[in-house]
Amino acid sequence: MSNELSSRIFRDDTAARAWLETHLWPGGPVCGHCGTLNQATALETRPGWYQCNACRKQFSVTVGTLFERSHIPLSKWLMAAFLLCASKKGISTHQMHRMIGVSYKSTWVMMHRLREAARDGTLPGPLGGQNKVVEVDETYVGGKESNKHKAKRQKGQQGGKGKAPVLSLVERGGKVRSRHVANVSGGTLRDVMVTQIDRASYLMTDEAPQYAKIGDEFEGHGTVNHSAEEYVRAYFWHTNTVEGFFSILKRGITGVYHHVSEQHLHRYLCEFDFRYNERSALGVDDKARAAKLLSGITGKRLTYRRTGERANVEA
Ligand SMILES: [Zn+2]
Repeated sequence: MSNELSSRIFRDDTAARAWLETHLWPGGPVCGHCGTLNQATALETRPGWYQCNACRKQFSVTVGTLFERSHIPLSKWLMAAFLLCASKKGISTHQMHRMIGVSYKSTWVMMHRLREAARDGTLPGPLGGQNKVVEVDETYVGGKESNKHKAKRQKGQQGGKGKAPVLSLVERGGKVRSRHVANVSGGTLRDVMVTQIDRASYLMTDEAPQYAKIGDEFEGHGTVNHSAEEYVRAYFWHTNTVEGFFSILKRGITGVYHHVSEQHLHRYLCEFDFRYNERSALGVDDKARAAKLLSGITGKRLTYRRTGERANVEA
């Protein structure tokens, strides 16, 4: 994929399809019905389509993917993926709709489908491990602008009015995993932490009481007192990594997406986690990030309703 928006794959559907085939099928066509590899015959009468020699069904590169049955041209899908991956804080549906020339409603559906592609569908193992530090913190996102400054004060309570609690786990020098949680009680936080973090990890949190007991279950537990002088007490004892991630997340949710309903929040978290995990500091450039996102359109079912989705969650 070129990093220039003038690339043919962003305006020519045949080029877009060829790019996607090369990218998703490095070993030859894979039947979207039965999964048979490289045992298909190209259909001369139907460009981009193949007949599987095993199950005899016809398929294209998008059959069995998140792009299946979409009426949006493939070139538009690739451009949308590239733009979403190149925008650190995300990109509003309105702006995307203007830039790619697809209706607002269709753009809204496309963006949620790309967020689904961003979801890590590989059942990844736990974060951290021996000699690794995992920072954990919770924040509140969404809701009205006027509530924004109350978020930090609401810490430790059962969620703020109109705001949704998010728990993020970040391995230093590694990846982030964010979850929309029902509340920030010790039990809820523990459920996420003990399943997502290797117990050989060194845990780093603030002094919220919920973490005290959970910390005993890990190799070590350091705490940072936000309110004291020791905010950046030392090279080691800090939660700057997870706070840095929250900073990007909040600027995106508040400044770009404006309003994110609790119903859809987990999808936006997939988007922000994905960009962070494929960040340039780890050597991933915009085009590689978009290619990675597009590889995520396979192996996923559409888990949301295809019709009746309301397109009014973003201002
Ligand atoms: Zn087949």
